[in-house]
Amino acid sequence: MKKKKLALHWKIIIGLVLGVLFGLLSSSMGWNDFVLDWIKPVGTVFVNLLKLIAMPLVVASLIVGVSSLSDVSKLSRLGGKTIGIYLATTVIAITIGLVTVNVLQPGSYLSTQKRDELKSRYATEAASKSEKAEMVTEQGPLQPLVDMVPDNLFKALGDNTNMLQVVFFAVFFGIALILLPREKTTHVRGFFEGVNEIILKLVDLIMGMAPYGVFALLASLIAEFAGNNPADAIELLQALSMYSLTVIIGLGAMIFIIYPLIFKLFTKFKYARFFKGIAPAQMLAFSTSSSSATLPVTMERVEDHLGVSDEVSSFVLPLGATINMDGTSLYQAVATVFIAQAFGTDLSLTQQLTIVLTATLASIGSAGVPGAGMVMLVIVLESVGLDTAGIALVVAVDRILDMVRTVVNVTGDATVAVVVASSEGQLRDVTEEE
Ligand code: ASP
Repeated sequence: MKKKKLALHWKIIIGLVLGVLFGLLSSSMGWNDFVLDWIKPVGTVFVNLLKLIAMPLVVASLIVGVSSLSDVSKLSRLGGKTIGIYLATTVIAITIGLVTVNVLQPGSYLSTQKRDELKSRYATEAASKSEKAEMVTEQGPLQPLVDMVPDNLFKALGDNTNMLQVVFFAVFFGIALILLPREKTTHVRGFFEGVNEIILKLVDLIMGMAPYGVFALLASLIAEFAGNNPADAIELLQALSMYSLTVIIGLGAMIFIIYPLIFKLFTKFKYARFFKGIAPAQMLAFSTSSSSATLPVTMERVEDHLGVSDEVSSFVLPLGATINMDGTSLYQAVATVFIAQAFGTDLSLTQQLTIVLTATLASIGSAGVPGAGMVMLVIVLESVGLDTAGIALVVAVDRILDMVRTVVNVTGDATVAVVVASSEGQLRDVTEEE
């Protein structure tokens, strides 16, 4: 009889837990240099491998996906539906964030003394975030549109943060393929289909390394966070525990209430099965804090384990990794109100509604890379007239919250992929194949 192998998500969980334990041990034993020299590189190589295949995968799968649509009108329907649902889930996420932070009032738990201490300790970091965000706010209203259209394909392909430009090119290219007679494009289609298959195989191979990669990422993250003074890190965590808890409760509500509800209302798919299928992608999101780096795995899981067709997943997921960030938008709403509470500023209802609007835009504008959400938080703070130096209050725990909000970002994208696929009749039953 064939021995049953341990499922991938269990292996990753083991890597994750051991990584945390080893990180804690090493910071209490003073082994941090060893961890940074010998263990961190394994995590970096793992993330680099994922990033390496993200762009080629987006190009190949989108071209194959779009060109397999029968006509252009189907594409615009798919596009409209996807963007509409993305916006709706983002607004729901922000609302949940606002309700949670207004009910729990985490700002009132931060003493004035601790607040001022945090403010002066992280002043430089807060200023550098504001500077980065300044460049965005100085742009004209149509700049995001201009930024979407690359003037040089290879330049766009050469920078992982240009995902949206590459998506644009691939869709454009795919449209031309739809419009041409099939016999003229047989070889090109065949080529991209082949590349697509090969890259999905690469994802499989890279995932074999995932448990070790995740171990290394977590161990080095903790070693870096705690440094050689774990007591200081614990004190910081304690001071910001109510704020962190508020963000985590809000994010938890998305994963355990809102997405299951969406599944119940709009699909026949069991949420438990979805959760099992997407778990490895969630764990990678947690360990890498990057939806873009997780994208290849999200695509592989959604296509091969949840049964979403290539057509839908190749369009919905790359777009989602760049524009749909439910977790980030929820976090931005909570952080803004928390900062206001800590400074004793009351936000009116109109100001809270402004947060809904700006956090939606700010999360769309955040790239799927670590820490991007905090830079864009500056814009939300400015929109309600708060001092951007307030970012200093939340910097210390940002990396940890980034891990959790990225899980929500990726889960949100995958949820929408399943909903769109089910509404388009593009969901195949994979229970037999598993
Ligand atoms: N790290 C997040 C992501 O990649 C973005 C953010 O909130 O900073 O999805």
